[in-house]
Amino acid sequence: MHHFDFLVIGSGPAGQKAAIQAAKLGKKVAIVDRSTDIGGVRLHTGTVPSKTLREAVLYLSGYSQRGLYGQGYRLKDDLTMSDLKQRLQSTIQREEEVILHQLNRNGIQVFNGTASFTNEHHVQVEDEKGKTTEIHADYFLIGTGTSPVHPKDYPFDCGQVIDSDHILNLEKLPRSMTVIGAGVIGVEYASIFSALDVEVNLIDGRDNLLGFMDKEITDDLIHQFRDQGMTVRLGEQVDTITYQQDSSVLTMLKSGKQLRTDVVLVAAGRSGNTQQLNLEQAGVDLNSRQLIQVNDNYQTSQAHIYAAGDIIGFPSLASTAMEQGRQVACHAFGQNISNNLENFPFGIFAVPEMSMVGLTEQELTKKNIPYEVGVARLRETTR
Ligand SMILES: Cc1cc2nc3c(=O)[nH]c(=O)nc-3n(C[C@H](O)[C@H](O)[C@H](O)COP(=O)(O)OP(=O)(O)OC[C@H]3O[C@@H](n4cnc5c(N)ncnc54)[C@H](O)[C@@H]3O)c2cc1C
Repeated sequence: MHHFDFLVIGSGPAGQKAAIQAAKLGKKVAIVDRSTDIGGVRLHTGTVPSKTLREAVLYLSGYSQRGLYGQGYRLKDDLTMSDLKQRLQSTIQREEEVILHQLNRNGIQVFNGTASFTNEHHVQVEDEKGKTTEIHADYFLIGTGTSPVHPKDYPFDCGQVIDSDHILNLEKLPRSMTVIGAGVIGVEYASIFSALDVEVNLIDGRDNLLGFMDKEITDDLIHQFRDQGMTVRLGEQVDTITYQQDSSVLTMLKSGKQLRTDVVLVAAGRSGNTQQLNLEQAGVDLNSRQLIQVNDNYQTSQAHIYAAGDIIGFPSLASTAMEQGRQVACHAFGQNISNNLENFPFGIFAVPEMSMVGLTEQELTKKNIPYEVGVARLRETTR
């Protein structure tokens, strides 16, 4: 039986930063991940791969230079998926080495295997070969993240209906794509593929995309998407998705519209990775989306078990997960910190990218807070 002051479950951004913060406070810390690849969704299927792809698209398609050389400018014609993925493995590998080095340098022990609670202070870790390790800890952080939701009637097995974890496995660049879900992930990939001149349909049942952003920003984004040739259909529900004999995928909308494309990307939500944790044994409560409920200090229904990052829901961004992780370690080990939940910065790396901090105009209006609007336009700077 191993004993630690702090056991972190999940090596994504929330877990890494919590572990490092606790180690810097002089605590004995361990981190466990079920994947042999350390770094979580951010490094392996989320932020880093999508941003590496985005950079490759902006550079190789010539998109980033079109302001200077005109809309027709292309650096390379006939781009392939392998051109776009060239830098991916080396970027991920290098970042994983950096993370492992940081954990080692701070004396954090890393266990590989799936963690599940046996009671409120014990966790069992089972590796791929079935070998188990018992760990007792005073405090825990659950940072196990989320996985894409697969609506049950969608034909994922045909290979052309994919989720964001598998988009980088595409062997060839599609000519057309339907993206279902205009949240952060759907918007980012829709804009990246549209910048490659792929014919993109972006569909969402809600009336606006990225509803947490200021509406003036999203209105402008939709305008730019349409200008770029993307079809944005908001307030539309998907009825069925079927694989066709001609190797296309047909998406039928409840309004009767039919969209036939090479690929359908389903980005319609993610659910919490809690199934393997055996949370009943620890007495930790979940909500209906399999996410963990926490208070303002990220404590679950058990005060010594914290949760942070995507597993607690909105805003589900790497930068916020990191900051939440640090705050958890400080709270658990008695450090005074300011817990300013309202002012986490958001970065959305669509094409074009957007960022935001604080309340939106719509929220200020709802709260009857008087405000002034000031606008600075990047296009008015020489850069
Ligand atoms: C396509 C895409 C693009 C994104 N782009 C951005 C972006 O531009 N900017 C941004 O800020 N965020 C972005 N995000 C979100 C970002 O990736 C997440 O917010 C972040 O990874 C969440 O970190 P986390 O620590 O909560 O967990 P995760 O990164 O999800 O890591 C969870 C870890 O827990 C492990 N685990 C799960 N269950 C167990 C168990 N029982 N035992 C042991 N280990 C377990 C998993 O193997 C995984 O390694 C993007 C996400 C996606 C999918």
